[in-house]
Amino acid sequence: MICGKCRSARVNVQMVSEARLKVKRRGVIWWLFVGWWWLPIKWIFFTLPALLVKVFAPKKYRIKIARKRYFVCQNCGYYWEF
Ligand SMILES: [Zn+2]
Repeated sequence: MICGKCRSARVNVQMVSEARLKVKRRGVIWWLFVGWWWLPIKWIFFTLPALLVKVFAPKKYRIKIARKRYFVCQNCGYYWEF
């Protein structure tokens, strides 16, 4: 793999999960009115079943986490999506 910008061969591959890229900061008002009840509800209805599926379901039902591969040039800092 060669950097598209400076032609250096010192390029690293980085795995970045999609979820981390999309994190948005919540405002104080959101926490006051929504966050304190929405998060436990979300956890009970989405995270727990997801965990149970992960633990008990056969491998074909495994939860997929979207991951993207990025190449990062160690020479000039240029990065691009695979
Ligand atoms: Zn480069």
